[in-house]
Amino acid sequence: MNETAQAASDVARNRARSQVAAGSISALLSSKIKPIHTARLAIIYVRQSTQKQVLDHGESTARQYALVDRAEALGWSRDRIEVIDEDLGQSGSSSEHRTGFRRLLSEVSSDAVGLIIGLEMSRLARSCKDWHALLELCGIYQTLLADSDGTYDPSDHNDRLLLGLKGTMSEAELHVLRNRMYEGLCNKAARGEVLNHPPLGYIRTIQDNFVMDSDAQVQAVVNSIFDRFNRWGSISGLLKSLVHDEMKVPIRPHYGPDRGELQWRQPNRVTLLNLLHHPIYAGAYRWGHRDVDAKKKIPGRPATGRTFNAYDECRVLIRDRFDAYISWEQFEANQEKLRENSKKSRFMSAPGRGISLLAGLVQCGRCGRSMSVVYSCNRLRYTCQRGAIDYGEPQCQSLSGAGLDRAIGGLLIEALRPASIALSLHASKDIQSQREQVALQWRQRLQRAEYDADLARRQYSSVDPGNRLVAADLERRWEEKLTQQERLMLDHRRFEQSQQSELTSEERSRIESLSSDIDALWSSAQTSPEDRQVIARTLLDRVVISVEEESENVDVEVRFAGGFVSQMRHTRPVQTYDQRSDYPELINRVHQLQTRGSTLAQIAASLNHEGFVPAKRAKQFNRGMISVLLRREKHRKNEPAKGHRDRSSLNTDEWWLSDLAAHLKMPIATMHRWRRVGWVKARKVESVGGHWAIHADAGELSRLTELRNYRRGWGEQKTPSRLTTPGSGDR
Ligand SMILES: [Zn+2]
Repeated sequence: MNETAQAASDVARNRARSQVAAGSISALLSSKIKPIHTARLAIIYVRQSTQKQVLDHGESTARQYALVDRAEALGWSRDRIEVIDEDLGQSGSSSEHRTGFRRLLSEVSSDAVGLIIGLEMSRLARSCKDWHALLELCGIYQTLLADSDGTYDPSDHNDRLLLGLKGTMSEAELHVLRNRMYEGLCNKAARGEVLNHPPLGYIRTIQDNFVMDSDAQVQAVVNSIFDRFNRWGSISGLLKSLVHDEMKVPIRPHYGPDRGELQWRQPNRVTLLNLLHHPIYAGAYRWGHRDVDAKKKIPGRPATGRTFNAYDECRVLIRDRFDAYISWEQFEANQEKLRENSKKSRFMSAPGRGISLLAGLVQCGRCGRSMSVVYSCNRLRYTCQRGAIDYGEPQCQSLSGAGLDRAIGGLLIEALRPASIALSLHASKDIQSQREQVALQWRQRLQRAEYDADLARRQYSSVDPGNRLVAADLERRWEEKLTQQERLMLDHRRFEQSQQSELTSEERSRIESLSSDIDALWSSAQTSPEDRQVIARTLLDRVVISVEEESENVDVEVRFAGGFVSQMRHTRPVQTYDQRSDYPELINRVHQLQTRGSTLAQIAASLNHEGFVPAKRAKQFNRGMISVLLRREKHRKNEPAKGHRDRSSLNTDEWWLSDLAAHLKMPIATMHRWRRVGWVKARKVESVGGHWAIHADAGELSRLTELRNYRRGWGEQKTPSRLTTPGSGDR
């Protein structure tokens, strides 16, 4: 073979090869899209990562919408093309919040999708986990994927490999990008130049530095906060003293129309804690004090899993970088104190004995905050104290927990009893019959569509093929009817998949047999408190508690999961008979029985039988209690009765001690204690059997009212002398 011939054959071979290549690509394209694909939907998935991108890259969004034309060119009719764009402004790194992506997955798995188109396929899901889930599903349901580079069939081995690679590369790209940005940030932070928002007491300068707020009042308040913490030694003490002196905290908002303007706000626990823990007040720069613990992260809640590093565990700590309010030694001492306090409180709140049934479910009916569980003297209590802890407000309300737990437990057992279960099973039968009706309607619609399509076909086939105009029109109508029928069938299949499956008779009988011995199960020793708690959490949405004034009556609103609300009246144990609303009735009954000649034991038995309950935590009356009750009543009678009490031996603005106690809604014993420690100005009136008279004019009354309320939320601190000194209220 000569050289020319050799060259000619080479050229020919090359040309042939390139022809084959070009042919194979178009062949590949067309061979991938089959009727099985075009019969189902084509979905255009549109996504931009952030709202900013949505605004900035309107062009790219427009390009994504242009994909509709592309789908049409690939052989989909316009009515079978759907656009999913709910995820505009959502990052692709995880599918958690992207409802659109989840809808896409569910559409694919209901076998309704023939093709998914996106700009770049890998943009669908930046996280490999989501990407592979999508590939897997598309492989199973024979759904094609298409992007600007081409069309892929995930059930084909080679395409699958390519798609997998695209996903991996996309994730790697994101990772590299993030790393590069993070490294830059770290370098800047190491130089102490990454500054977020200035903490209260500091402002940002034009040179991008933090300096002490030039407002003298702001400086004074910050200094005072540190002084007060020194004095009280605890966050609660600090908070309460600020609230007591009506001191406000200076805040300059970081956002909004009033950005940077000085505002005075109510102090709260979190603000104070942040302030005390922040090393900037000792002049130090810190960076990297926040971390995320992946183990504590709850899916769907972005704010969870955050942890805070102490100042000595921060990634960057540079001393003497800013103006300081306190010395470094002072700062370290404060941290030590805070650490000690939190250790102490953790030790004190460790439950150890018994677990409350309703922890986390009880809501305060007075202020709407959630009530916490506390254990005092081994006894469980539900108290509303968030307001007191966070804002130094007086304590809202509280009640003993054991009785409430028992009452709610009874309600839960009631809900789980066979009768109730039978009722709900019956209800499920109703639902089933409704479903059957809907199914019947579907069948009728499908039959109708089938008939229409059939009619159109018959009309078309009966026309003379020579009459082209009529034939073309009839053919078009037949096509239309066929499309409608297909669309309806597709809708029906999606409807069926969205329906929950009904209970089988086997499942029914299992539920029934389980519920028959619920009482025994609930109280069994093998059932742990945690088990009961799980049941309560499953069945209940929340329990709203409102204590009526200071009485034993509690309104309980039990909200079951699913919306059913049950109201009940609960009786909490109270400290004294004075707090009882049914006291007059009770004492009348005792007198009645006494005049009939009943013995103390008989009276106790009658009262128990008639449903009276003693004060405090005793469950039943006994002989001794009746005797105490009668003695107490006799004592009260000796004092002139309320309202009719003889006031002739009193001076102006004087009250009988018991009257004043009743007026302030407090136990008489407490008023006697106040008298003994000199918190009230008292006088013994010898002429009337040595009863105590207390001086209380309007000023004194307001002081005593404040004193009465004050003691409730104050805890271990000393009551201020302003409240305990008689006459200081006359100001
Ligand atoms: Zn409350």
